[in-house]
Amino acid sequence: MSQVFDADSDANEEYLYHVVCHDCPTESVSERASDAEERVDEHRSSTGHDIEVAQLPNERSA
Ligand SMILES: [Zn+2]
Repeated sequence: MSQVFDADSDANEEYLYHVVCHDCPTESVSERASDAEERVDEHRSSTGHDIEVAQLPNERSA
């Protein structure tokens, strides 16, 4: 019983979402794809910057 599956969260424990902008120092890490996509959309629409999200393995779950 060492693993708990949290049905109340849409976070995927296996991955982190790394948001990084190529045009300014904006950078953040989110556990939720929806959060990361929201930040990308917001930043892109307000600045026109080239920002993207990369999926990374979540080392904490190893
Ligand atoms: Zn930017």
